[in-house]
Amino acid sequence: AAREATKENSEPPQPAKGRRKSVAAQELNKANKRMSCVVKPPEMQPKRGKFGETRPNQKFYDMIQQFRETLKVTPMSTSEVVEPHRICVCVRKRPMNKQEMQKKEIDVVSVPGKGALLVHEPKQKVDLTKYLENQVFQFDYSFDETVSNDLVYRFTARPLVKSIFEGGMATCFAYGQTGSGKTHTMGGDFTGKQQNNASGIYALAAQDVFTYRTHWKYSQLDLCVYASFFEIYNGKVYDLLNKKAKLRVLEDERQQVQVVGLEEVYVTSADEVIKLIQTGSACRTSGQTSANANSSRSHAILQIVLRRNDRNSTLHGKFSLIDLAGNERGMDVSSNDRSTLVETAEINRSLLALKECIRSLGKNSDHIPFRLSTLTKVLRDSFIGEKSRTCMIAMVSPSMASCDYTMNTLRYADRVKELNASSKCNG
Ligand code: ADP
Ligand code: MG
Repeated sequence: AAREATKENSEPPQPAKGRRKSVAAQELNKANKRMSCVVKPPEMQPKRGKFGETRPNQKFYDMIQQFRETLKVTPMSTSEVVEPHRICVCVRKRPMNKQEMQKKEIDVVSVPGKGALLVHEPKQKVDLTKYLENQVFQFDYSFDETVSNDLVYRFTARPLVKSIFEGGMATCFAYGQTGSGKTHTMGGDFTGKQQNNASGIYALAAQDVFTYRTHWKYSQLDLCVYASFFEIYNGKVYDLLNKKAKLRVLEDERQQVQVVGLEEVYVTSADEVIKLIQTGSACRTSGQTSANANSSRSHAILQIVLRRNDRNSTLHGKFSLIDLAGNERGMDVSSNDRSTLVETAEINRSLLALKECIRSLGKNSDHIPFRLSTLTKVLRDSFIGEKSRTCMIAMVSPSMASCDYTMNTLRYADRVKELNASSKCNG
């Protein structure tokens, strides 16, 4: 697969659908003489920085740079076709941050475009020879570190807005380790500590909801828009629009799940939704010394609900946009703190349940294992029915230090998509 990534071929790496391929550097060399991923001879001088220092792992850096020279890159742009998917799985790589630059961290993720993404995993043989294991992944879309929230939105959540006007349920998830860009993508980009909520997928979706509402096709439906914003922490639901009131989740005999007392605010413009996002986000992190300390361990869910203007305010469609808890805890078993362990177990359980629910949606299965976690319980009605659509955006950090977490995230996203080759739909 990696040989196909060279300039001689016009196509980017194309592994079997939804499958991962591992290619050792040595095999690459056999396949293509021009591509040299073997360790440089020791007499070669490594490149030096401004002050004469070498980068840690300079060899890996050189190997990755050499590999990249052979990659054909087709960046994502607005000219790319937006394909309708019942289940859409994409990946977004964030840029290196200041600290990573200062540490001269190595960027081990390449995004050739057309849904492909490569992780250059640094490896060492028993004789200490260094080599790269290039892991190739294929998703519906892959976004590199240069793209804007606008572009990500265009291919992910935007196609789902229409579906809720047609009586469907839609979900959009941001998945990934803490610090990989989930909140940046959903809630909006940061200028220092200040978040620009108008630039996130939450706000962009709200804007389009109000645009669609006045569209000739949907205006006669006379739909009212409501918004709710809540958090799930340790299996408990907290209302972010009502001072974090703790709410109960009830399931009736018809398996209808209800969050009792959840504030559903009637809204008439995207600006009003943005204000609610600001209120809710502030509520999410209040009382925390470190902004990310608590929010990284909870799932935040913004729901935009369409109701008919009748006596019962009948539910017409619903869009749930979810900033998931950091998935790194699944790998962190070093903690001795009991509350951390309980927390970790809960996050693991909910993320595994989520994966299973999306997979059963993809298989049109009657059995949705929604009872496994609070997250999947409250989202139950989104995993059933012909008209349900979902999109997962897997966020990854570029650095070598995050490599294991990145691989973990990509494997999860890969599994969500697996067996869903037939998940394309019309409209
Ligand atoms: P998470 O919510 O996954 O923990 P954040 O969204 O808080 O991560 O992002 C961590 C940091 O990285 C923030 O300072 C954010 O501004 C920055 N960041 C994330 N994604 C991007 C991006 N695509 N472009 C620029 N900065 C980003
Ligand atoms: Mg976050």
